[in-house]
Amino acid sequence: MTSYVAGVDIGATYTRVGLFTTDGMLMERVRFETPRAGGELAVASAVARAIEELLSRWGGSLISIGVGTVGPLDIASGDVTGAPNLPIGRFKVREPLERLFGVDVYVVNDCVAAAWAEYLVGTGRGFRNVVYVTLSTGIGGGAVVDGHLLLGKDGNAHEIGHIVLDLSGKFRCGCGGLGHWEAIASGANIPRTLEVLAREWAGEATEAYRKALDGGLSPEELFRLWRGGDRFAEFAVDFLAEVNAAGIASVVNVYDPEVLTLGGSIALRNPDFIELSLARIGRYIVNRRPTISLTPLGDDVVLLGAAFIAIKPPRELLGVVRKYSRL
Ligand SMILES: [Zn+2]
Repeated sequence: MTSYVAGVDIGATYTRVGLFTTDGMLMERVRFETPRAGGELAVASAVARAIEELLSRWGGSLISIGVGTVGPLDIASGDVTGAPNLPIGRFKVREPLERLFGVDVYVVNDCVAAAWAEYLVGTGRGFRNVVYVTLSTGIGGGAVVDGHLLLGKDGNAHEIGHIVLDLSGKFRCGCGGLGHWEAIASGANIPRTLEVLAREWAGEATEAYRKALDGGLSPEELFRLWRGGDRFAEFAVDFLAEVNAAGIASVVNVYDPEVLTLGGSIALRNPDFIELSLARIGRYIVNRRPTISLTPLGDDVVLLGAAFIAIKPPRELLGVVRKYSRL
């Protein structure tokens, strides 16, 4: 009988579940909207249904599950403790899945899973210092330093989206903090940032400006109007590129990676915007500049990383799970 592992990517908008062979080959993936209500078991139940559906189609047996999820999380319990971009807030992952399937379930931050994929099979393959940054609904990261996957006391050693980049008090983050990178430049918060910028704009009343004023300018529309030469969109994209440059440079300054890859919908759909951001990091960077590129693993980077966490759990994670299961 064929043995499989399940890789799970719990995102702020979509959850992806993939069935993988034990050498990391993806057999099939399914995608559904991440439950926004239904209590602390809603997400795990939806994931379980998807795994059962895949197993019923492919047969075989499940030997472990790896999960990369929006955070922040409590890595010891495997619970998400209050995701700023998900209305469901706190929810359980490890315990209900372990109980249902009777296999080991490894739960990490989604960007930690992505960093693990980059380190093993992506651009970071063959390097010991690899950082992954996502620019998406939220902003997050994962880091392998000296060959060690960084986790931290609760599994949140790399909440880089909450690096403070602004002291004006104008940008409040979904986490409640002020001036965080994510509060300014994540997909979820860009419309509000555009509103703040529009109120201060003294130039012509362009289409982007008018839409931004009432908070109704989405990132997709902003980038479309920017490419069309809208003056307010140019001003706003310039500002966001500067913020991303400062954020990415801060990450390089803290982790000193050889390779830094970028993923997430904002980055993957707007390589011209990323180029603009990267052109500006020189003025904020102190460490030797790493190789910086978009992830070659695309939308599957978290899913793939979650599967590899299940196939080859990093020793740092085994350490945490063992330490806490003794308590
Ligand atoms: Zn924050």
